[in-house]
Amino acid sequence: MATKKQFAVIGMGRFGFSVADSLSKMGYDVLAIDSDEHRTQAVSNIVTHAVSADSTDEEALRALGIRNFDVVVVAIGEDIQASILTTLILKDLGGPVIVVKAQNELHGKVLQKIGADKVIYPERDMGLRVAHHLTSPNILDYIELSEEYSILEIRASTQVIGQNLKELNVRAKYGCNVMAIKREGKMNISPDASDRLSDGDILVIVGHKDDLMKLERAYAQI
Ligand code: ATP
Repeated sequence: MATKKQFAVIGMGRFGFSVADSLSKMGYDVLAIDSDEHRTQAVSNIVTHAVSADSTDEEALRALGIRNFDVVVVAIGEDIQASILTTLILKDLGGPVIVVKAQNELHGKVLQKIGADKVIYPERDMGLRVAHHLTSPNILDYIELSEEYSILEIRASTQVIGQNLKELNVRAKYGCNVMAIKREGKMNISPDASDRLSDGDILVIVGHKDDLMKLERAYAQI
């Protein structure tokens, strides 16, 4: 039987707290670390263990047995130096997959260079999603997959209701692909060309960012 993954989250700001809280609610063991005692106290009832420690202190991390965790999330935002130092120490100690929150692109680049396994940009990504949603009420979500490709969730507008995917033809018109159709909370992940769109349907479309932008612009007019 596979053992449950063990997580450590360093930095109990809003983001770190939310990650620790969510993992805990999902049933995982979480060690929460923060140099500020008030912050560890605030999370102590939610996670398995909460410890006050400075993550730039190698000995402190060693003593916490950080090497034995599967994943460590570094959620120190503002103090970029502390975030980088912590990541370096974790990398040196070896063991867990290291996921780090970046404050900006430059911070992210440094983190990547020193060997962070995954760099995340919560503010930037959320800003992007909200901006796309704001351009048209039909656009429900926008998720970046890579520098070039993204996924768009778009509500079927009255103009396209009744059409099938062949008639809609987003592949020829925009070079994008309809990956799935959400209907009444259910997801059809292999939609057929003959599938007709109904009121309330949500299309999940994957494509190059430039192509999705064209599609979005066309939809924004509607
Ligand atoms: P938010 O997620 O709320 O936007 P943020 O990204 O601005 O927060 P900060 O508030 O800068 O993040 O830091 C998050 C937490 O990290 C704070 O609670 C802070 O006490 C903690 N922290 C900062 N440096 C260290 C360190 N060296 N060791 C442990 N915890 C630290």
